[in-house]
Amino acid sequence: MKNKLQWKFVLIMLLLILILMTVVSVFLIQGVQRFYSNAFFSQMETVFTDKLLYGELTAALYEEDPVAKIQEVLDAYQGRLGINTDTRNYYILDGTAGSVLVTSAVGEAGQLAITPNILQALTGSFAFGGNATADYMDIAVPVTGEGDSIEYVVYIRDNRQTVRDLTLSLVSLIMEAVGVGFVIAVALALILAKTLLQPILGMTKAAEAIAGGDFSKKLSVESDDEIGILAHTFNNMASQLQATLEEIRRSETLRREFVANVSHELRTPLTSIRSYAETLTENPDMEKETEVSFLHVILNESDRMTKIVQDLLELSRFDAGNVQFNFERFSISKSIEDVRDAVRLEAASRGHTISVTIPEGLPHIVGDRARIEQVLINIVSNAIKYTPDGGYIDITSGSGDGHVWVAIQDTGIGIPEEDIPRLFDRFYRVDKARSRESGGTGLGLSIALEIIQRHGGDVDVTSVVGEGTTVTVRLPIEPKAADGEKSAGGRHHALEE
Ligand code: ADP
Repeated sequence: MKNKLQWKFVLIMLLLILILMTVVSVFLIQGVQRFYSNAFFSQMETVFTDKLLYGELTAALYEEDPVAKIQEVLDAYQGRLGINTDTRNYYILDGTAGSVLVTSAVGEAGQLAITPNILQALTGSFAFGGNATADYMDIAVPVTGEGDSIEYVVYIRDNRQTVRDLTLSLVSLIMEAVGVGFVIAVALALILAKTLLQPILGMTKAAEAIAGGDFSKKLSVESDDEIGILAHTFNNMASQLQATLEEIRRSETLRREFVANVSHELRTPLTSIRSYAETLTENPDMEKETEVSFLHVILNESDRMTKIVQDLLELSRFDAGNVQFNFERFSISKSIEDVRDAVRLEAASRGHTISVTIPEGLPHIVGDRARIEQVLINIVSNAIKYTPDGGYIDITSGSGDGHVWVAIQDTGIGIPEEDIPRLFDRFYRVDKARSRESGGTGLGLSIALEIIQRHGGDVDVTSVVGEGTTVTVRLPIEPKAADGEKSAGGRHHALEE
């Protein structure tokens, strides 16, 4: 592939040079020829329209040997006329027959054919007409005597040999230039191909590496031209691909963990139900009291299972996106008070003090009241569960920036910093034993986050181990219509069904 493109470049360059040089040569040669013939005619015109020369020519007619005199005059003007006895010559023709009487030409060059200019001069007028296609240039001037009789014709002829020689040397010069141009073009084309192809080859290698799962190869972006932009885009694409793959792997791990968790969470209560039930069947003479306590364990465990299954079903509905929300405008202040009332007994049984602070005029919000209350109850229940007896739970609230916030602060055991980001993961519990003991499933906060996110809000946790935890729920006063429908995105993995 490399060679193919490289040679295409070379070919294009060569063609370019060839076309360019051809065009330049055509113009150059034409220009030179035109210049040369223009120079000839204007030179002749200047010399022959000079009164002095023409006067001398006509005066020669009165000499004894007019032809010799004319020749003498012409010889005197040899320099100005450019007569060189080789490519340019003068002829003195007989005024009636047009036959050559005298010429500066030697040998073959002396032979003369009658040209249109000679014919014109024989009729009595100056002939400076040019013919571009002819292989000569000429002018003819009649030397007129008394009574307008044409005695002689002075004829100057240039055989264009000079311009032909010039053209030839120009052509050979151009050929040489083309040769040099070819060499330069090939070198340039190769350099160009190399600079263009190097990054492309790099990209091919990187793409191959990526196809093989190796994302470590990054292209160096050396320029800010199109190739540089391409390399940059390629790098971006590679990083994005890598991120996506990592995300897929991560969610695959999460999915496996989740399936393992579900099985484990369901097996634990099942195992105890089974062992208690077995003990009961194997010991029909058991004391009534023990029997009742065993049956209680069985009931408790099946309640736990029911709770887990219910929570899982709820999450699964969120994942599938078919949870119906009943949006309405309601008083969040009233909800906070209702939540407090709902947990009052539970808190009292642990000796906790709950305080509620609601500012005057806390705006009503639009949302699914029952679900938001469910979230708040869940968070307050956590505060009750994870705070040693006799603690304090403060529920405060406020608004601003189009949002309402509710913060639940406790004086509980706190959460280690490294666990905070995972709190919302399904089945994630900081202390499994404690959570299970208090009837937790590890799904409460996952469900809470789903509900709040679908309102366009968020949940934030700050905590100091041994001092307490603050969970803050922020909800928009007017959620955007779409928020209720949209999926929570990649934070959680789909529930296996
Ligand atoms: P659970 O059903 O176990 O309470 P959640 O999803 O509600 O599950 O909470 C997840 C974990 O977060 C809990 O197991 C607990 O370890 C921790 N957690 C939640 N709230 C608090 C809190 N107020 N204080 C200390 N730990 C908490």
